[in-house]
Amino acid sequence: MTTVAARVIDGKAVAAAVRERVAVDVAAFKAEKGRAPTLTTVIVGEDPASQIYVRMKHEACEKAGMQSAHHGLPTETTEDELLELVHELGRDDEVDGILVQLPVPDQIDPNRVVAAIEPAKDVDGLTPTNAGLLAHGAPGLVPCTPAGVMELLRHEGVELEGAETVVVGRSKLVGVPVARLLLGANATVTVCHSRTRDLTAVCRRADVLVAAVGTPRLLGADAVKPGAVVIDVGVNRTEDGLCGDVDFEPVSEVAAAITPVPGGVGPMTIAMLLVNTLAAARARV
Ligand code: NAP
Repeated sequence: MTTVAARVIDGKAVAAAVRERVAVDVAAFKAEKGRAPTLTTVIVGEDPASQIYVRMKHEACEKAGMQSAHHGLPTETTEDELLELVHELGRDDEVDGILVQLPVPDQIDPNRVVAAIEPAKDVDGLTPTNAGLLAHGAPGLVPCTPAGVMELLRHEGVELEGAETVVVGRSKLVGVPVARLLLGANATVTVCHSRTRDLTAVCRRADVLVAAVGTPRLLGADAVKPGAVVIDVGVNRTEDGLCGDVDFEPVSEVAAAITPVPGGVGPMTIAMLLVNTLAAARARV
């Protein structure tokens, strides 16, 4: 048996607390405005994982007292047809949040579709407008997983001001927005990627290490400074089940706190989607 020294950050509990808070705020919104915030989702095709994710998002909306609607389009839908629907939802007064579940089939350019979403309803925070606002440190809708990472750090009381933080991964979905949010919290931020030289040495400088790569157990104990806080965004399917980008057991013996996979960052993503949907609804009325 390995001894786990690190505090295990309970993402499920933090997400549940966020969802409860949202439910209270949704009730107040309904009492004041006489309507519920509404999320509309779109899936093109039959990707089983997308179906599961979207179903979970609808269930979460319902539990929070929000309304949700869904458009399931056939696999052979053209880019123009999807763009037309996205524009229509942008104009629809009944819709507060629009979420097009990715991936989309090959005939559709996901960047064009995301760019067509009305920024005020972009609850995934992925449009160029919202990415630009985040880059400028201006208020906007922030991508859900990065927002969830920040909520976990806040909940854990991690001091970010002046802290040495390292983000591994530079995707538009996770790495870059996490880095921007950390900068906004006055952390010193280093972003690593596949061309980074001596990843282990760079990671070892971090007081707060965020891994968003997609490679099972890429970061071991040698990549973690003793006493660091480790946030593992990675979700990897292996023969032994789900695991993160961080080698949990050995890293637990060095880190002060660490998120497990599953049960760490994952549950935060849907919770922050609810936060964004409510924020979008409030901003529109
Ligand atoms: P992505 O778009 O594939 O980006 C991966 C990033 O990792 C890229 O920037 C890539 O560098 C970098 N990278 C790849 N190999 C590397 C290496 N050996 N050393 C250092 N950097 C390396 O993935 P993503 O969408 O950001 O997602 C990352 C992980 O988070 C995935 O496991 C995904 O499933 C998970 N995820 C989880 C949630 C959640 O809710 N928990 C949400 C979103 C994503 P280059 O840019 O140089 O290629």
